[in-house]
Amino acid sequence: MRIVDVRERSVPISRYNDPALPSGGLTTSIVALTTDTVRDGKPVVGYGFASIGRFAQGGLIRERFAPRLLAAADADLANGAGTNLDPFRAWKTMMKGEKPGGHGERCVAVGTLDMAVWDAAAKIAGVPLYRLIADLVGDGSAPHPTVPAYAGGGYSYPTDDLSQLSDEVRAMLAQGYTHVKIKIGGAPLERDLKRIEAVQALLAAPNHLAVDAMNSFNAEQCLAAAAALRPHHLWWFEDICDPLDFETHAATVIAYHGAIAAGEALFSAAEAKLLDRYGGLRPAKDILLFDPVHTYGLPGYLQIIETLKGGGWPRSAFWPHGGHLFSLHVVSALGLGGCEVNPFSFAPFGGLSDGVTPQGGRVAPPEVPGIGFETKAKLRDLFGSLSTE
Ligand code: MG
Repeated sequence: MRIVDVRERSVPISRYNDPALPSGGLTTSIVALTTDTVRDGKPVVGYGFASIGRFAQGGLIRERFAPRLLAAADADLANGAGTNLDPFRAWKTMMKGEKPGGHGERCVAVGTLDMAVWDAAAKIAGVPLYRLIADLVGDGSAPHPTVPAYAGGGYSYPTDDLSQLSDEVRAMLAQGYTHVKIKIGGAPLERDLKRIEAVQALLAAPNHLAVDAMNSFNAEQCLAAAAALRPHHLWWFEDICDPLDFETHAATVIAYHGAIAAGEALFSAAEAKLLDRYGGLRPAKDILLFDPVHTYGLPGYLQIIETLKGGGWPRSAFWPHGGHLFSLHVVSALGLGGCEVNPFSFAPFGGLSDGVTPQGGRVAPPEVPGIGFETKAKLRDLFGSLSTE
């Protein structure tokens, strides 16, 4: 059981359905990881990408972590029976010699390769990823065939913001989403309130809308936003301030009263513990957004779930960041709260399998071996282009 080739490329991604609109130069890494295991006459290839929001990690992947996988012996990668990759052994191989702390975006590089290892392992096992995860680390209960989902997007448009935002949300509702999340914090508060009111007018109830401030508010802005948003009865208020400013975070939780969502920009179990202890969050009410890619991949994400379990956090509080198929499998396998989907942002990574839409506000992971990136034609072609370079 060997990994014989790893390829990586940085690709641009857009926050908008129209990729011509500026997205701040945002990129992500795509990887193809080829194994020496043959299925249907071809070597099994696992695909992964760096989720969204934190740029590509090509240097770290190519120079540091992929070489460790390529140099690893069978025993460092295979399960006990030697029949498949063991993603946890592969993860230890990647993390060998890495010291705790100082995550930088090393965690994103490891998570990208970890996603490809899981994709390959599920393909070798011949099962959808959610089944493999449930078999290896589930609590014994069956995976959830469908999970609650919401549509993420709603970035600020450079022109005609309110009308373009309203069109985007109408298109989300037309696809069958019942709950949506939009961005705030990039404009004066009065303009954000107009965005909120425009979208709430389209939804079945005010609490079908969540807002994401993208960690942009300082202490004073947080308290002003808390007071202004409170009467709007939102689903949740997300990423309110610098992710490590727990003092501001805790003060805002008290001032706001409604549900707060946090954790997307924290990357380790130790950081999650600090958020739980000092961020003022309430396990019965608030939402945890940790990204199963950015937290050093699924092994790191599982450490966070385990750590927070000790603080009384139920699995239903976890709504992972990312809006892609990998997160969907994780939510289904582990019985988490629900899943973000980005139907119009971050193409071709966002959204469900081609032609698939939510039913009653719920979505299902693809029923093909692996993550199922191949069920999205443009994504299949993009990953496929790695092997012809
Ligand atoms: Mg966010």
